[in-house]
Amino acid sequence: MENLKVYVDRLKGGVSHKVDETLTPDFLDVDDEEILFDDPVHIQGEVYLAEEHLVVHLNIDTSVYLPCSICNDAVSLPVGVKNIYLTIPLSEIKGAIFDLKDEIRESILLQVPLFAECNAGKCPERENIKKFLRTSDDAHFPFADLD
Ligand SMILES: [Zn+2]
Repeated sequence: MENLKVYVDRLKGGVSHKVDETLTPDFLDVDDEEILFDDPVHIQGEVYLAEEHLVVHLNIDTSVYLPCSICNDAVSLPVGVKNIYLTIPLSEIKGAIFDLKDEIRESILLQVPLFAECNAGKCPERENIKKFLRTSDDAHFPFADLD
């Protein structure tokens, strides 16, 4: 986790801070019962100075578990964020330390889909729902037997 803190002063003279980390997902600190992060989070990239800016370039990979919207089974979905580029003015970095953690957390959470379906979108329970729908359609013709 220490490696996610970038000391701006150490980047002077063209030094780049390399990030190559595998973290437990605890730091994502998600307060949502439906969303579970259980797999390691891979973060790879670099941070360097360009003029009066800090440039952050990252690739992030992990998985999220969501309940299938049909049968409620947990579905694992890959969450990857490729080539994030952030440019932060040095004047906005307090105390000359930039913590990548919040940016990483936000980037990952933005990628979490709103819905998931198990079995790559072919939930076995889907058929049951269709049958149920068809039965209710028939109920729209209550006078069909009157002829
Ligand atoms: Zn399902």
